[in-house]
Amino acid sequence: MVVCALVLAAAGIAPAHALEPVSVPVETLALDLSNAIEYRRESTETIQVSTAPGPDGIVRRIEVRSRGTEANPTWVVFHLANNTDQQLDRLIVAPHFRLAGSGLLWPDLGASRIAAITPSQGFAPERQPSQDADVFLVTLDPGSVVTFVAELRTRDLPQVTLWQPNAYKDSVNAYTLYRGIVLGIAGLLALFLTILFVVKGSMMFPATAALAWAVLAYLCIDFGFWNKVFHVEAGADQLYRAGSEVMIAVTLVIFLYAYLNLNRWHVRYSHVVLMTLLALSALFGVAVYDPSIAAGIARMVLAGLGVLGFVLIIAMSLRGYDRAIMLIPTWLLFIAWLAGTGLTLSGELVNDLVQPALAGGLVLLVLLLGFTVMQHAFAGGSIADGLINDAERRALALTGAGDIIWDWDVTRDRIYTSAEAEESLGFKRGALEGPARDWLEVLHPQDRDRFKATLDAVVEVRRGRLAQTFRLRAKDGHYQWFRLRARPILGNDGEVIRCVGTLLDVTDAKTAQERLLHDAVHDNLTGLPNRELFLDRLSAAMTRAQADAAARPAVFLIDIDRFRQVNESLGLSVGDSILLTVARRLGRLLKPLDSLARLEGDHFAIILVSEQTPERVAAFADAVRRAIRAAIAFGEREIFLTASIGIAMYDREQREPDDIVKNAEVAVAFAKRLGGDRIETFRPSLRIAAGDALTLEADLRKALERDEMKVYYQPIVRIEDRSVAGFEALLRWDHPKRGRIPPTDFIPAAERSGLIVQLGLFVLERAAKQLDAWHQSLPGGDKLFMSVNVSSRQLLRHDLINDVKAVLARASLPKGALKLELTESLVMENPEFATQVLARLKELGAGLALDDFGTGFSSLAYLQRLPVDTLKIDQSFLKGNGRNRLVILKSIITLAHDLGMDVVAEGAETDAEAAELAGFGADYAQGYLYGQAMTADDVKKMMEKAQKARA
Ligand code: C2E
Ligand code: MG
Ligand code: MG
Repeated sequence: MVVCALVLAAAGIAPAHALEPVSVPVETLALDLSNAIEYRRESTETIQVSTAPGPDGIVRRIEVRSRGTEANPTWVVFHLANNTDQQLDRLIVAPHFRLAGSGLLWPDLGASRIAAITPSQGFAPERQPSQDADVFLVTLDPGSVVTFVAELRTRDLPQVTLWQPNAYKDSVNAYTLYRGIVLGIAGLLALFLTILFVVKGSMMFPATAALAWAVLAYLCIDFGFWNKVFHVEAGADQLYRAGSEVMIAVTLVIFLYAYLNLNRWHVRYSHVVLMTLLALSALFGVAVYDPSIAAGIARMVLAGLGVLGFVLIIAMSLRGYDRAIMLIPTWLLFIAWLAGTGLTLSGELVNDLVQPALAGGLVLLVLLLGFTVMQHAFAGGSIADGLINDAERRALALTGAGDIIWDWDVTRDRIYTSAEAEESLGFKRGALEGPARDWLEVLHPQDRDRFKATLDAVVEVRRGRLAQTFRLRAKDGHYQWFRLRARPILGNDGEVIRCVGTLLDVTDAKTAQERLLHDAVHDNLTGLPNRELFLDRLSAAMTRAQADAAARPAVFLIDIDRFRQVNESLGLSVGDSILLTVARRLGRLLKPLDSLARLEGDHFAIILVSEQTPERVAAFADAVRRAIRAAIAFGEREIFLTASIGIAMYDREQREPDDIVKNAEVAVAFAKRLGGDRIETFRPSLRIAAGDALTLEADLRKALERDEMKVYYQPIVRIEDRSVAGFEALLRWDHPKRGRIPPTDFIPAAERSGLIVQLGLFVLERAAKQLDAWHQSLPGGDKLFMSVNVSSRQLLRHDLINDVKAVLARASLPKGALKLELTESLVMENPEFATQVLARLKELGAGLALDDFGTGFSSLAYLQRLPVDTLKIDQSFLKGNGRNRLVILKSIITLAHDLGMDVVAEGAETDAEAAELAGFGADYAQGYLYGQAMTADDVKKMMEKAQKARA
């Protein structure tokens, strides 16, 4: 080191010096000299400097020779004045690296700043050992003014400070502590994220860990830690600094890519990222060539990343991508940090604290990113990461495929299905769980045997597979198709312990398939045509009928009575079996051209074209009724059904098939209203009855007052000699507008409205009075009896007994002359009560007849218990040509006689029928053969005529 100090005593020459000497106070700990220095850029090896005027006012000139390390060294001149009376020791400190003002492009990456300092007087300042700053100790004598000439190693001296030695030491110590803490946190973070990567294996973790490591590296360099460990020559860490800055940029790109899963959104993202990474990697090369360029680019990239990343994150957040949403707060902080850094780099923000603060901020950012990543990785549960075992993968695959798990624990006989099955069928959770036999209930009747057989087979042979398609009944009664695939699992003993597999709803596929095979016009339970096909066929039949005058298609609607009750008490599955049975039975009645359909639920319909005459159609209707009435065996028990049947004939008036069906519906409704178990043929008056039932009831109320109700009498004759034995009183209503309405049409309305009680009493009184009159006046009339029909409403009222008592008392009729006709169903509604009432009536002297026997329950057991003296066999027993009819007729007559009852056969219309009855020993007959219901006058005429004939 060559220092030439020439003291030139040249009082006359006063060279210009720009700056005043800085006075050094005693108490100031640190004095910033950055603004008190004067740059001298000389291209010579020596520099001439005028000193500041001393206390004596003399300005000297000194010449300082360069030490020759730099070609064109930069010089810095500053003057210090000690205006105190004590000697001052101070440290001149020039940090190697300073963030503030280091610049965005071509940044100043730090270096040793001062090569040597030459004072104008006294000892040359002594260089103190320091890794990250050039530190010189100067001693200022009291009252002295010293000019210092510093030879710089760099072009600029960003910062130079005059420190009190102890204060400097304290400050260094404080920073060291802070740096230690920040480094510790950064190191732990990097380590932790790395470990997480090993554990969780998601791409996010290595990306974040890499960023953490890059930050750690940067901090190590920035804090001088690196230099201490690796003995880098002071200020020669520019390469590392630039390298770490590039690293941060690179890892941040990778982080964004991995965290936002950019490769998933578009392959373009991957390309962009790859290019960016390549370009950034090239920066390492640049760093070796010129660290400043590399660091400058890295800084620009970082700033760009802040903005671009933000745009990307916002765009993805708007798409609802929650990873992006989670990153927003951290990214906002990052942008704030970038802004702060930018201001610092450009020198807007100059502060001793700003550099450590930014370092701390960087660590905080990584910490936040780490939290965000962890939060995400762990929020997804154990299956969020890629490491799952095979069983888990299979389970997930099953969930993904949407199959329903079907698991039959054979040893405990419990079937488990996942909730989806019950959901899709509309059942409550757990409805499909339980023993295998419970499944039979919900299975379609036609699939049951197959299902059972397959399960049995698998358990028995202990191998094979369950592969089946079957129908399960949903809660609302329709069927859904499911495909079951399962395989048996064997226990240690080689027995099947479970069958596990999947169930898949294949209804859509199946219906599509069925539609192709069978079209969409068949009912899925019975396979019969549905309403659409039915209407189509009906319209075809109508078209044919238009061409053929003889053809008269009839539509039957068959509605099973109280079927809902069957479903409710026995279950839908039994209900379904019953519907299948009914469908089968009805199907057997048809001739090739006829067709049967199931319109809905328990409504069947028939198009009858094979029969034309009303009689044949009626006979067919009867066959239908009997087919339904026949007992249906179900397990141990038998089920008895009845049906309401409505018939509508095509009479060339109706245009649309719907019209006929509607007529038939009116007839069915009417049959239903009469209590069911009936056949009704449509007639326009029914539509009135159906249409304005209310007006009918209103009219009915006035009918008695207006004397519209007439009692007619139909003779009942002894079969052996055809002599009249008595009459049945039958009501007729002569409606002022509608004409004569038969009792079958208005009695139900009267029963509903309660008017039947009044009507019944009216008939009872009228008939009793009439009989009394005949007893008095008619020749041979004193033996006549009178039958009066009693409806259930009447019987269930206690007044009936009083009414009958009063009527009998008033008419003074002999015992048994007034007979009450009851139907079996009426008695069966409340057998105990009815039996009691009947017994009382009998005591009063009324005769009792069981009407329409053979149409209801025909329970012989009850017959025995009832105090009935006459059995009226329903007219249907005289019609038809079934082989059994005669046998049954005969046995009923015999049985009635055995029980001490008289037998009246209803509906005798021909001599042949009369002969038949005579042959079987029936006592009485009633029918058109002997006379229709007639007025009292006609009865008188008839009786007188008969008397004359006999005489
Ligand atoms: P029911 O008691 O069985 O009366 C016999 C029905 O068969 C009568 O019909 C009668 O006209 C009809 N009939 C009689 N002989 C023949 C025949 O040879 N061939 C055919 N095809 N039919 C025959 P009606 O008068 O229309 O009465 C129908 C039903 O209305 C009665 O059936 C009865 O249950 C009820 N009914 C009639 N009058 C009254 C009444 O005053 N009170 C109550 N509660 N019901 C009544
Ligand atoms: Mg009767
Ligand atoms: Mg009858």
